Amino acid sequence: MLIDRYKRIINYLRVSITDYCNLKCIYCAPYGGGAKLPHKEILRYEEILRIIKTGIRLGISKVRITGGEPLARKGVYGFLSKLMGLDGLSDVSLTTNGVMLKKNINRIKDAGIKRINISIDTLHKEKFKEITGRDHFNLVREGINLALKKGFNPVKLNVVVLPGINDDELTAFARLTLDNPFHIRFIEYMPIGTDIIDVKKRLLYPEIKARLGGIGEMIPVENGINDGPVMRYKYKGAAGEIGFISPISNHFCSTCNRLRLTASGHLRPCLLSDRQVDLKTPLRSGASDQEIADIFLKTVFFKSFEHHLTADGAAGIAGQMQAIGG
Ligand code: SAM
Repeated sequence: MLIDRYKRIINYLRVSITDYCNLKCIYCAPYGGGAKLPHKEILRYEEILRIIKTGIRLGISKVRITGGEPLARKGVYGFLSKLMGLDGLSDVSLTTNGVMLKKNINRIKDAGIKRINISIDTLHKEKFKEITGRDHFNLVREGINLALKKGFNPVKLNVVVLPGINDDELTAFARLTLDNPFHIRFIEYMPIGTDIIDVKKRLLYPEIKARLGGIGEMIPVENGINDGPVMRYKYKGAAGEIGFISPISNHFCSTCNRLRLTASGHLRPCLLSDRQVDLKTPLRSGASDQEIADIFLKTVFFKSFEHHLTADGAAGIAGQMQAIGG
């Protein structure tokens, strides 16, 4: 079992399989979305699977595949099938920007993935281009609709609340849940690796929620076992639901159950700290399963009680989200 110094049980591994992204969102990859790591510095799929298997032996039961853009990595569907074939995982999910969904939805389904999160921060084509640097709005919307049609359940939409950029669209997003079974997740913007958002205009959970109150009665929904720190609500009679993820205003460190594996092969105890432990070098130098397990234990030991990121970015995290995996 992975238990940290504060008695938190760690059973969730978020795995970034590439640092490349085919979008370059202003708040996530402010210096451009292209790959920065040379190919040989990125963990191979067999290496990732070996690490995950070790994690499973230590109690990891939940895995999320992320990036960069995971669907942009060659061979990803074969990897997802192998991942789904591992014994011991009760929950495997995927976070994608949706650009490649339409074309590949059957391959994702065939691999056995049932839960998918799609990031979309605006419902306007032009604004989408401004935020992401690419004209792929229609592709993403079509991918989202197809995901619903193909029976992914739930289809979660990640909306990062960007003050001055998309906060005029929060009600439009929430209204989508009235007739569609989407789970919309409003995520507080985390000032990491960029000062692109004016932090003085910060928009945090209490205000985001208050702005959505006019749509209808918001009924709290009890969290399921794999839900993590989201605060869930449903409008009366709605097909879908909304949720709030508030890493800044109401951080959920006390219940943190996660580790992150970066594409470069580092284990990170916390998204919001630059601390990480190299796993790739030992792995490629012939480390035994026990030695890999020891690196998990060491990383878990490094988990701090809580992060120190505030709405004005006071923790000074240098890494870009795109490289860490969100
Ligand atoms: N490319 C995939 C995608 O777009 O979903 C996966 C990687 S992306 C880094 C994972 C999530 O992190 C996305 O939902 C993204 O919006 C979110 N994210 C990126 N930068 C963020 C920030 N500064 N604050 C809050 N969320 C952020």
